[in-house]
Amino acid sequence: MIEASCHCGAVRLAIESAPETLTDCNCSICRRYGVLWAYYRPGQVRLVPPDAATDTYMWDDRSLAFHRCRTCGCVTHWAPSDPARDRMGVNARLMDLDVRAAARVRRLDGAVTERYLDD
Ligand SMILES: [Zn+2]
Repeated sequence: MIEASCHCGAVRLAIESAPETLTDCNCSICRRYGVLWAYYRPGQVRLVPPDAATDTYMWDDRSLAFHRCRTCGCVTHWAPSDPARDRMGVNARLMDLDVRAAARVRRLDGAVTERYLDD
């Protein structure tokens, strides 16, 4: 079990396991947020507290909701609008530095080809 926390601690994520790989995406939103994504199934991640105060941002086809802490503004995770979609992203920038250091970072060209650049 590992934890990710926003800067002020109001929004935390308890996560089943440390990520082996992280995704550094250059799409229009990820590059602006400056995030590194660790992907999980929603059942592997628990929001602490369950009603943690986040604001969300959606755009385009509104398939994803990007959550940020209402107090400190850190982007914490994204979740699919469709609950049948079994995938979510946690911002690994909120994890401990040693967790991040142990994971391999893959660069995703989300802006153009939607392919990983380095494998
Ligand atoms: Zn916060």
